[in-house]
Amino acid sequence: MINLAPIGIELFPPNTPAGFTTLQQTLQQFSPLKIRHYSVTYGAGGSVQANTQQLVNYLQHHAQHATVVPHLTCVGADKKGLLTLLHTYDDMGIDTILTLRGDVPAARYFAQVFPESTITTAKDLVVFVRQHFGERFNLIVAAYPEIHPKAISAKADIAYLKAKADAGAGSAITQYCYNADAYFRLVDDLQRLQCDEIPRWILLRLQDYQDDPASLKAFGIEVVSQLCEQLLAASVPGLHFYTMNRVEPTLTIARHLGY
Ligand code: FAD
Repeated sequence: MINLAPIGIELFPPNTPAGFTTLQQTLQQFSPLKIRHYSVTYGAGGSVQANTQQLVNYLQHHAQHATVVPHLTCVGADKKGLLTLLHTYDDMGIDTILTLRGDVPAARYFAQVFPESTITTAKDLVVFVRQHFGERFNLIVAAYPEIHPKAISAKADIAYLKAKADAGAGSAITQYCYNADAYFRLVDDLQRLQCDEIPRWILLRLQDYQDDPASLKAFGIEVVSQLCEQLLAASVPGLHFYTMNRVEPTLTIARHLGY
């Protein structure tokens, strides 16, 4: 018998009224799972940042007992804008923020088209929020079981995660990974080997099913259900689903697990 850990659901903000209507239905369908948190992505690129605030505000009023967690990225944003947004979340009654560096399009990154007053790492963003808001927010950061692609080494990656905790982050949500052992290695803070994002055996099976969408979907659900079972059996504190605003795969997996 496995212990069912709380579920967190990641959503992205729709950018059309029709998308928003669909998302409202999606939220209703998720409600039987007793969601612990809904997190809302935030585009470091800038185009749909206002939509994040709108969805956060909506969830804050409609998400029943779930915690609403806005993602906040710093790369490409100036400090004044970050402060304004943090005050908005403060006023909304938001308690928890996922503090991230963010990714911007490579062309913009290399052109260094950033405001002068900018923060370029998640650790510095954590420091910035603590400086201005003290303990007002719980801060979550990103962690990488299969190591951040730009990390200079696995050791540096873990050391940097610890630096984010030392700066004031209280917990982390991991990047999705396909390998429970990688998560366990991260948790154990032990040596890890760099591995491909998608294991070879999964890639080969995906290729087999490329003309058979039903089998492809069933295979994906089977792989992720088994991964979640392994993680729950090891008493992970929670499962965070990158839903892409689609309800059905997550619901199916949750039901397989007994939620
Ligand atoms: P950081 O923690 O600042 O750095 C990432 C890595 O760089 C570190 O793990 C470390 O290996 C290395 N590094 C950085 N600084 C140092 C240093 N001084 N010394 C040594 N190593 C260093 N992106 C978005 O744009 N919007 C989102 O909404 C969003 N949501 C996300 C949600 C989750 C759960 C995760 C895991 C990622 C999300 N991302 C999002 C992607 C994220 O912004 C990218 O992965 C980005 O490349 C790194 O962000 P970070 O906060 O991990 O950065």
